[in-house]
Amino acid sequence: MCGFYRSSYTDATGSKKYLATNQFEATDARRAFPCWDEPAIKATFDVTLIVPTELVALSNMNMASEKPLVTFIVGDLAYIEKYTSGEYNDKKPVLVRFYAIKGSEKQGEFALDVATKALDYFARVFKILFPLPKLDMAAIPDFEIGAMENWGLITFRTVAICFDPKASDARYKQHIAYVVAHELAHQWFGNLFTMEWWDHLWLNEGFATCVGYLAIDEIFPEWDIWAQRDDVMFEALIHAKMDVINKKIILHKSEKWKLILVSRKLSSYGWEYPENEDYLTAMLRTLAIKSAGTAGDPEIAKKATRRFKLFTEKNDQSVLHPNIRQAVFEIVLMHGGGEQEFDAILNIFRNGPIVDQKLAALSALGFMQQPKLVQRALDFSISSEVRHQDILYIFRSLQTNRKSRKPLWNFIKKNWDLFQDQYTKSIKLFEYIIKFRTDMFASDETIIDIEKFFADKNIKYFKRPLQQSLENIRTNGAWLKRDIKDVENLLAANGYLKHVS
Ligand SMILES: [Zn+2]
Repeated sequence: MCGFYRSSYTDATGSKKYLATNQFEATDARRAFPCWDEPAIKATFDVTLIVPTELVALSNMNMASEKPLVTFIVGDLAYIEKYTSGEYNDKKPVLVRFYAIKGSEKQGEFALDVATKALDYFARVFKILFPLPKLDMAAIPDFEIGAMENWGLITFRTVAICFDPKASDARYKQHIAYVVAHELAHQWFGNLFTMEWWDHLWLNEGFATCVGYLAIDEIFPEWDIWAQRDDVMFEALIHAKMDVINKKIILHKSEKWKLILVSRKLSSYGWEYPENEDYLTAMLRTLAIKSAGTAGDPEIAKKATRRFKLFTEKNDQSVLHPNIRQAVFEIVLMHGGGEQEFDAILNIFRNGPIVDQKLAALSALGFMQQPKLVQRALDFSISSEVRHQDILYIFRSLQTNRKSRKPLWNFIKKNWDLFQDQYTKSIKLFEYIIKFRTDMFASDETIIDIEKFFADKNIKYFKRPLQQSLENIRTNGAWLKRDIKDVENLLAANGYLKHVS
């Protein structure tokens, strides 16, 4: 998934197809053609591609020009389009198109709507015109990161842009809106104005993150995005400053315990998602059911199992709203789900209506409790059915799940050559594998084991994430030693101890 590469998918008739796309940041343009790809040296490219007539070829622009991030995509694509109002862009409306593999283009309607509004908003507040006559956004089936702000042709991981109001989980709506606004902001911060060298990348990201949220707050005031921002900022900050964050992780964890204690009260929200309900109430319901169910509330677990049965055996879609499916899958698997439930969820991964629902199923498979099924989930994670980019979803669950944390680490050690072979070229994914795997451990033995394992490995490409992981393990261990008694007492006093053992 770097340089000019091939992405595969299955089309509506069930046959395997390919498209060609690229990911060049930071130094992979040179994999595609001879060039000097440094941010301070913006060059004029004139690239010619020879493309079969039945395929669509996209590029940054139609003519040769100065392109900070040259891009090209070739494939059997379809699009939908919309113009910005042009009101703040010197009366020049910008044509925005969303491209996807044929048949999926309608799933870009929401993103297209956000994009046109965000472009208007940025032109208004920056008082600098959008510098291009067109803007394309494309959903790519295999994509290493979330999205890439290529000049005039932004590429996205499918789940970061495709949304179906009937079949998708509503929380993706907010994520998509934000990613679109963030990438559009980069057309100014990053593309029009570029840092001299990569060590100032944080400036691009800082500005794009901030104005991305400003745009979302403007377009969706009802989301109250600033009230929700803490968690997201928390994520972003992790990459910036570990020493500050370590303290926050501890806070974060005690928050989690409080959440378990209040979640029973919250579960009075019920299981239905009325139409036209406000976004925050809907998200709070999902959170309440998920927290109570995964913490072991027997009432919630029973209800989840009953609804899951109706959903999978009777194919009754109405008993499980898309917003709650992932939580219910997890709850069911954590409370006695076996082979049959595994197969039912696997089937949803294989045949789900939209990518966010497939990934919800894939994530859930990491919550199996029986050793045999944990092993099945592990083996499945490296099967050809799981795209390389998507292994993170199942790994994240496998390492959250106490029953699979150790088996996961052993699995990675055992299959290390394979991981190294498949992921060293996609270093960001590789970093995540290293981090996710080790973050949840808390013992000194684990640190020794990890250090021993990597002692004779080449860690040149992931030295920092590995150090961060070890640091996290130490922090977790210190937190446990300090607070375990207090937490136990708090839980015992509230009658929850047996559920969290
Ligand atoms: Zn960015």
